[in-house]
Amino acid sequence: MSKRVPEPFRIKMVERIRMTTEADRQLALEAAGYNPFMLRSEDVYIDLLTDSGTGAMSDTQWAGLMLGDEAYAGSRNFFNLCDAVQHFFQYKLVVPTHQGRGAEQILFPCLIERMRKVRGGTEAVFLSNYHFDTTAGHIEMCGGKAINLVTEKAFSTEVYDDWKGNFDLEKLETAIQHYGSVNIAAIITTVTCNSSGGQPVSMANMRNVYALAQHYDIPVVIDSARYCENAYFIKQREEGYDEKPLLEIIREMYRYGDILTMSAKKDPMVNIGGLCCIRDHEELFQAVRTRCVPMEGFVTYGGMAGRDMEALARGLYEAADEDFLHYRISQVKYLGDRLREGGVPIQYPTGGHAVFVDAKKVLPHIPAEQFPAQALCNALYLESGVRAVEIGSLLLGRDPSTGQQKPSPLELLRLTIPRRVYTNDHMDYVADALIAVCQQASSIRGLEFDYEPPVLRHFTARLKPLTD
Ligand SMILES: *Cc1c(COP(=O)(O)O)cnc(C)c1O
Repeated sequence: MSKRVPEPFRIKMVERIRMTTEADRQLALEAAGYNPFMLRSEDVYIDLLTDSGTGAMSDTQWAGLMLGDEAYAGSRNFFNLCDAVQHFFQYKLVVPTHQGRGAEQILFPCLIERMRKVRGGTEAVFLSNYHFDTTAGHIEMCGGKAINLVTEKAFSTEVYDDWKGNFDLEKLETAIQHYGSVNIAAIITTVTCNSSGGQPVSMANMRNVYALAQHYDIPVVIDSARYCENAYFIKQREEGYDEKPLLEIIREMYRYGDILTMSAKKDPMVNIGGLCCIRDHEELFQAVRTRCVPMEGFVTYGGMAGRDMEALARGLYEAADEDFLHYRISQVKYLGDRLREGGVPIQYPTGGHAVFVDAKKVLPHIPAEQFPAQALCNALYLESGVRAVEIGSLLLGRDPSTGQQKPSPLELLRLTIPRRVYTNDHMDYVADALIAVCQQASSIRGLEFDYEPPVLRHFTARLKPLTD
């Protein structure tokens, strides 16, 4: 039986959540078109849709809000934020953005432009262990191509591996040669690797990727939503790091990159905010700032209010607290262990921010085009009021050129754990409910479309259960 690590905080303020009846939930789910994204949050008891912007800020962060300097230019909170960035990442040049995708939209066109101007490339290829969906979206919107090169081990959910977020280095080198190094706009190291299950990237892998990138003169961007969780895994699992302070591990990780983009809504526990930071490349910094002004806002606030920059500056320190991370990673692992003991197949080991349930294995009678993971999400909601999210064929969508469903390597239900929000008792409730649902798996039916939006269909699609 795995151990529960007690919460390293006490609760000063509470928010009521409402338990509903199964009849309430049936009505709510029908009204939502059998798509949990369309549920009203008030109809959800425990919300594990995402860990993005859903964390609980601390008393210190809330106090920081009162110290907001809302000057249009040169806010003191911006300089506090720059100091925190310098402390952890040692990157000199900072652009605040409204969230992670804000950083992507001002950075990627500049990287493509530099690739064309300085290295003479004509295509615009980005290579990553795995591109997050908005990351791939922004690359494609500026005419680029996003290629994922994560280790094959990520796809064997039941086989333990310490580093299911790593790049496959052989595939990386082959891809560089295939597209030609001048055509690679950037290599993007995503820490942790969200799409393979919040799985960590080892320091050795980051180091090797950076060495390869330097050899071919390609810039490395670290997509940094969950950098502290990644650093914690390095400390736990990688030889030579168990005695190192987390700060040193973070600083080393960022030596294997030139630029960072960050969704600050994840590890740093603010409800909104992001960053684009550059180690020392002044020319690139000027280009990014030039795009920032019309798209995000003036360069010393980007997309954020002064008070939000203060909460983020403080959040960067809290995110790297080792007691907190120990509790955080243990809570996710505890939920994963409870599910495994109950016979539920998951991506193993559990990652940093979520437990990913292998819905293909739970529902072998439902084919991919009937969205097994979505059907499992709906069954879990009906049973318990817990909202999870599908990461599979529905999310992946159709190939725009052929109109065919893209083949998804995995059909996953993601239970994403917000930071400092739910207790271990909530985790027990979720585990009991999902184990009960999986025991009646053969009665769950697949889904078909009632309405299929042309793009990003998973957010607003309407579905209905198939009858035999
Ligand atoms: C969330 C996320 C993003 C995008 O950030 P937003 O704040 O949602 O815009 C980019 N990359 C990764 C790995 C993410 O998890």
